[in-house]
Amino acid sequence: MEKRQHPPNKPVAAWKSFDRLKEGVIPSLTIILRTYGCYRSRIGQECTICGFARDSAGVPLSPEDLVAQFENAMTRRPDGEFMVKIFTSGSFTDTREIPLDARSRILGELDSDSDVKKVLIESRPEFVTQKTVSDCRQTFCKKLEIAIGVETSSDAIRLDCINKGFLFSDFIRASRVAHRFDSSVKAYLLLKPPFLSEGVAIRDIVKSVRDVSKYVEAVSINLCNVQKGTVLEKLYRRGDYRPPWLWSAIDVLRRAKAENPDLIITSDPVGAGGKRGPHNCGRCDRDAAGAIDRFSLSQDVDDLYIECDCQELWQKVVELGDLTYGAPIVV
Ligand SMILES: [Zn+2]
Repeated sequence: MEKRQHPPNKPVAAWKSFDRLKEGVIPSLTIILRTYGCYRSRIGQECTICGFARDSAGVPLSPEDLVAQFENAMTRRPDGEFMVKIFTSGSFTDTREIPLDARSRILGELDSDSDVKKVLIESRPEFVTQKTVSDCRQTFCKKLEIAIGVETSSDAIRLDCINKGFLFSDFIRASRVAHRFDSSVKAYLLLKPPFLSEGVAIRDIVKSVRDVSKYVEAVSINLCNVQKGTVLEKLYRRGDYRPPWLWSAIDVLRRAKAENPDLIITSDPVGAGGKRGPHNCGRCDRDAAGAIDRFSLSQDVDDLYIECDCQELWQKVVELGDLTYGAPIVV
């Protein structure tokens, strides 16, 4: 995959937002660190939907560069107390991406920063081990959340449609390890990876929220978008993939919240309204994305209410999609 050239001491991105925790809404700083990249992409096993390899450095970076990226990102902090969410193009806990020394220095700085109330790090389950989490816990004693992109509770969909290369049982094991070291767990789920009809995709995520709810404190539902240089992009160009309808996201959130009222369930409709992102008819996309954003902070299903004529069309797509084996009916 073609790489873009970037300075090794600057993060991919860092931005302020708000996050919903059990106790309420808190300002947050999201940090995307540039690293060597996800090892799966180096062994030619990247996920069908993931274009993040384009943001990776492609070579191992020094602890100094990684800490400099982190410190640069922290200058964009919100005022007062906040939480920090750290993502790489792979796993924060893979020492090939973030060497031990850099990891300890970053977690140490976050631990001693009195405005930082909670930290979220993202990892594939194979790096959530006793040794790694206990190491993290030696330098970082505040609230720690480990986010895992389990994507779905269906092993068939995770392996065959996404090529993620791990099992639901790996996720359960990782979640138990995290909890043993007093860390909470967040599951990232993916609505509508390739090869699924709209209806199958909806039912998959409603079931997945139910299945992960025993192992996590929070769920975030990512709405699949078409990233550059991916298998998904090839399918999309051929007319064999349409990103999820925002109606589907609204339907999933409504049903999942009704089934799991105490679970924090959020979604950030990245790329909503674009052809390559989740969209409805074009006229109601902003309203629908706004409703999803509001619900994600309030957890109140009334915030998901919007109206548009295209809802009927979406319902037909959900009904008929199963008959076309996932081939798009409407773009
Ligand atoms: Zn509409």
